[in-house]
Amino acid sequence: MADCIFCQIANGQVDSEIVYQDELAVAFRDLNPQAPTHIVLIPRQHIVSLDAAREEHSELLGHLALVAAEIARQQDLAEGGYRLVTNVGPDAGQSVAHLHFHIIGGRPMGWPPG
Ligand code: 5GP
Ligand code: ZN
Repeated sequence: MADCIFCQIANGQVDSEIVYQDELAVAFRDLNPQAPTHIVLIPRQHIVSLDAAREEHSELLGHLALVAAEIARQQDLAEGGYRLVTNVGPDAGQSVAHLHFHIIGGRPMGWPPG
């Protein structure tokens, strides 16, 4: 998607601090971090949100979940713990219409989020 900021990050048109990439996924530091470590993990494929995911995406979604855990270990978050979040639609505050998972950690977090 030419006008999608996360597609532009994935294909290198827009700079970001990339912490992980493979043939299916890219992860980069959030521009507006909500915790000491805040990474955004996206599929290279433009999928609008989890609501747009279908059976054909199940292998990709499994890959993203395992990559999220691997990134958390690489970022030394696994011992203290971390949160993996995907916002879907307006009530959740989704601001970029390209499926993404926030990997957030490095401080204690309350529940539920506000
Ligand atoms: P959402 O609110 O859609 O769940 O999350 C989108 C996230 O993407 C936000 O946390 C926002 O700070 C981050 N973000 C938006 N645009 C950019 C960008 O151009 N670069 C980076 N690194 N992060 C971005
Ligand atoms: Zn996109």
